[in-house]
Amino acid sequence: MFEEARRQLGASASDSDAAVILSRALKDAESAPPDQRKAILSTSLKQARQARRFSITLESPLPDNWPKPSLPGLIRVKSYPPVRAAWVRPGGQRNRQFMTLFRHIKDRKIAMTAPVVMEYASEAAASPAKMDSPDAMAFLYRRTDQDEAGKFGSVGVTNDVPVQVVSIGVKGAYTEGRFRKAAAKLRDWLKANSQWRPAGPPRVLAYNSPFLPFWMKYSEVQIPVCPAGKERTNQPMAPLTDEEKRIILQKGTERPFTGKYWNHFAPGVYVCRQCGAQLYRSESKFRSDCGWPSFDAEVPGAVRRQPDADGVRTEIVCAACGGHLGHVFEGEGFTPRNVRHCVNSASLVHRPTPKTAKAIFAGGCFWGVEHHFQKVQGVLSATSGYCGGHVANPTYEQVCTGKTGHAEAVRVVFDPDRVSYEKLARLFFEIHDPTQRNGQGPDVGTQYRSAVFYLDNKQKQIAEKLISELRAKGYDVVTQVAPASEFYPAEKYHQGYLDKHPEQPTCHVRVPRFDKPKK
Ligand SMILES: [Zn+2]
Repeated sequence: MFEEARRQLGASASDSDAAVILSRALKDAESAPPDQRKAILSTSLKQARQARRFSITLESPLPDNWPKPSLPGLIRVKSYPPVRAAWVRPGGQRNRQFMTLFRHIKDRKIAMTAPVVMEYASEAAASPAKMDSPDAMAFLYRRTDQDEAGKFGSVGVTNDVPVQVVSIGVKGAYTEGRFRKAAAKLRDWLKANSQWRPAGPPRVLAYNSPFLPFWMKYSEVQIPVCPAGKERTNQPMAPLTDEEKRIILQKGTERPFTGKYWNHFAPGVYVCRQCGAQLYRSESKFRSDCGWPSFDAEVPGAVRRQPDADGVRTEIVCAACGGHLGHVFEGEGFTPRNVRHCVNSASLVHRPTPKTAKAIFAGGCFWGVEHHFQKVQGVLSATSGYCGGHVANPTYEQVCTGKTGHAEAVRVVFDPDRVSYEKLARLFFEIHDPTQRNGQGPDVGTQYRSAVFYLDNKQKQIAEKLISELRAKGYDVVTQVAPASEFYPAEKYHQGYLDKHPEQPTCHVRVPRFDKPKK
């Protein structure tokens, strides 16, 4: 049955419901007890067959290069290409919004467009209890060359950027209860899949017009997502000042040439003043001399566009928290991208590109050591690997023989402005037992030895100082302090191992050793 599932997976388009169902089932079956594997695989083979046959009633073709609607109930991550959209102002009554849009495309002799996007108010994203207040609504054009961007009465036509979402298929009438339940399932999924983080309020893709009977209606509830980087950039933000509140919450504008970033050009990233989400990279900042910071591109998925209440401009808000940023203008010819995000300095905080430094520690099985360093504020990455041996490019199997001289080690890349080497080294001596020679707990062999591989003299001095501190407290420390030799990252499946296998017990538990003397 494994063979059959693998064969079917190979025959499916890689970005299809069937492929998603089969690859999940194969993974589940591999880790399931043998007597359950058959049931898992046969159910999913049946579902995959359904997914291939699945289609819905569409009143008009989908926009170009759009993914197909998903099987009801199936949760999957999807990518949508850029699209042109006609929006009506947030806050209107839903049927009236729909009729306004419908009239817009009819007057302009554009065929019925589908699907329709319904967005939830940004406040609703923060508090699921308020989810029943639908916000803006948009018709999506089939092609980006239909109609033109601009403002037409109460309808704004915008060019929207590509977006990645986690999505669930929903069958039946468009009711708030049904949408709310689906959004709750997506939130649970996001909690269990921490490699994705939400990047905006939920939206509904309604594939059919309200004119179709409910049993033919089909929709998807979606939450925009971004891959969650290992780097924690979302530091807690200070409370907003009154002036910042006026701009970010009440959609105010700062006076030109007064903000702190209009004439600010330094490498780094500009994050949201309210929530800390990354919005713009310094490479996309350009000089427009309009008196406000100008960018010609946003971090993908970080900025949401919506018609401004003035009925003319396109407002931009932080996709994560809905905070007001400014407005976006097209066709001014400032840069080849021909887009200007005109943003209030007060809505932004500049974070300079971090300095980086490295440290290498060996303290037994690298899974547990990596896991601890991964969680430290200021650590940009922690990589499991091999250090201190005499064979080039060793494999795990070779290192396990204990004959290559390598120790299982972890390379930590950190921002020295946010965390010091000494702090990392202190942590190192507390998450493993530095008094055990050539082993940690049940793992025995020179590859599990305790070692600090220093990269400069200062690191060496700090390591030696900490070791003498511990000896003074009665610990018979056997940790090797040696210059770092070449570090070889371990095979991919070792990286982030404990995050991927939370059921695996860790051999590394933090014991405070510096604070109190040994008993
Ligand atoms: Zn924000």
